[in-house]
Amino acid sequence: MGNPKRLLLLGGTTEASELAGRLASDPRFDVVLSLAGRTASPKLPPVAYRIGGFGGVDGLADWLVRESMDCVVDATHPFAARMSANAAAATWRLGVPLLTVIRPPWTAVDGDRWQIVPDIAGAVSALGPTPRRVWLTIGGNELAAFRAAPWHRYLVRAVDRPPADAIPPGAEILLARGPFDLAAERQLIATHRVEVLVTKNSGGSATAAKLAAAREAGLPVVMVARPEKASGETVADVSAALAWLDHFLIGRQ
Ligand code: NAP
Repeated sequence: MGNPKRLLLLGGTTEASELAGRLASDPRFDVVLSLAGRTASPKLPPVAYRIGGFGGVDGLADWLVRESMDCVVDATHPFAARMSANAAAATWRLGVPLLTVIRPPWTAVDGDRWQIVPDIAGAVSALGPTPRRVWLTIGGNELAAFRAAPWHRYLVRAVDRPPADAIPPGAEILLARGPFDLAAERQLIATHRVEVLVTKNSGGSATAAKLAAAREAGLPVVMVARPEKASGETVADVSAALAWLDHFLIGRQ
């Protein structure tokens, strides 16, 4: 066996953590997981890791050269479009292979009452002028946009407490990290008398139960569509990513 392949894994998702776990014991790979540093106490991986931005495309390209990386696996969240664009540009410039792992989006099924909006501003407008009890599951980054509609009563579920100046007036904050099950989501809707759910179309199973619970309760859902994401070769899950690495990175030596 030759030298292990040096691999930068861009993370912040369940898929990235799982991939790190699977690659940790594979001597053919030498993995560095990268996290943005948004979460106060991230789950630390069983591989080498680094935390914080690279400094745009140039910073990332420099880092890839300095660290002699053979490949980049972009397993960032479907809404992390800037990091993916930077990864696409830096790897293109250097001729380093890029694999993108992106889980399929959720799709509406019978009984769903989704209103699809293009972005968070669209979600704020979709809530309308009449006060409603709104459950927000959009993370902390873009929460401040809802301060423009202070007549609603917000329940915000997030992993970390959002900064005080991002929180809509009177909002209740519920700190929790998925996965969430259907019984708990049903209970939450009932306890907080939720009238509408706002979510991003993240996809995946860890946070999908809220959609089933909303369907059962007949609740409308404001669904923020995914941004366009620059990508390399694309796969939908961890097994396909492992197969790709095996075939294209190791197999072509
Ligand atoms: P973003 O808008 O695409 O990225 C903004 C900047 O943050 C990037 O330009 C980069 O800074 C830095 N960055 C992002 N991901 C990074 C990573 N894995 N390692 C090092 N630097 C990173 O991303 P975002 O939407 O703020 O998301 C930040 C992180 O949270 C991502 O890792 C993502 O996977 C995770 N996450 C996001 C969401 C979401 O809804 N957006 C949900 C769950 C998890 P430089 O330009 O300085 O390199």
